[in-house]
Amino acid sequence: AKADGRNTYSFYSDSLTLQARERLVLEQRLRNAMKQNHLTCYYQPQLDINSGRIIGAEVLLRWIDPSEGIISPDTFIPLAEASGLIHPIGNLVLQQACRQGKAWQLEGLANINLAINVSAQQFNKGDLEQKINAILQETGFDPACLELEVTENALMGDEDVVIKTMLALRALGIKLAIDDFGTGYSSLAYLKRLPLDVLKIDRRFVENLPRAEDDQSIAKAIIDLAHNLRFKVLAEGVETSEQLAFLRQQRCDYYQGYYFSKAVPAAEFAALLKKQRTS
Ligand code: C2E
Ligand code: CA
Ligand code: CA
Ligand code: CA
Repeated sequence: AKADGRNTYSFYSDSLTLQARERLVLEQRLRNAMKQNHLTCYYQPQLDINSGRIIGAEVLLRWIDPSEGIISPDTFIPLAEASGLIHPIGNLVLQQACRQGKAWQLEGLANINLAINVSAQQFNKGDLEQKINAILQETGFDPACLELEVTENALMGDEDVVIKTMLALRALGIKLAIDDFGTGYSSLAYLKRLPLDVLKIDRRFVENLPRAEDDQSIAKAIIDLAHNLRFKVLAEGVETSEQLAFLRQQRCDYYQGYYFSKAVPAAEFAALLKKQRTS
């Protein structure tokens, strides 16, 4: 570094400092947001495609900043993953959602399935099963109603270790879903070995249904593949009645998307459940 000369060195050092400083500021704001309870779970309804009934919700995190409003997870989850904050944040989400799910159950609002996103770092840390078990004990939430969503990337480590982790999680009585299916690099031979319950078709294969023939073929192939492996299939990003009709015709099991509802605060989700109970 000394041989680089003074100007070069100070040029890089200044720009890095600026970048690092910006990141540190945001990281510090994220830490504060955690402490001040500005991180809140929203719930996007998941429905049975045939009965049209709400069977559960995907838990989607929101950062509600008093001055900036709602900050999307697409901006702060990557930062949380890079800084290690994903571990406390992941626990916060699990705890908040399971506590909420238990409260709904006590209110008599059926047994609502909660699907919670788990980052690759959380999945591969080695203590996830213990963490989940502790949260289930602490909140009293029914494990049969908890589902973890993991992406193909999270499952790219040593196959035997990954499968062992999945089996340990399933032994708690919870379900496992593969998220954004078809966008990663997992092989079909590998998929066949995985102890999964649900396969989620990524939004980008749903987007242009039913008019795009290539996407029709892909959606059909994914649904058949999943059923042959005895997984349930959920389509995400359903926005139109035409998409919904196509997916129903192809025997997709569940769906979520703006067609029915975006992710909403807990109270709004509870209102949707109450409306359904009386209809
Ligand atoms: P994802 O898991 O693929 O979540 C689905 C995203 O699609 C959500 O964005 C949801 O609001 C959006 N979406 C749902 N229905 C529709 C639709 O019909 N049309 C369109 N265009 N979009 C739809 P969101 O809430 O901004 O979350 C973005 C990503 O952030 C998630 O993608 C997930 O990877 C991550 N994320 C969110 N919450 C958590 C969390 O608690 N933990 C972790 N590790 N990641 C999270
Ligand atoms: Ca997800
Ligand atoms: Ca997804
Ligand atoms: Ca996604």
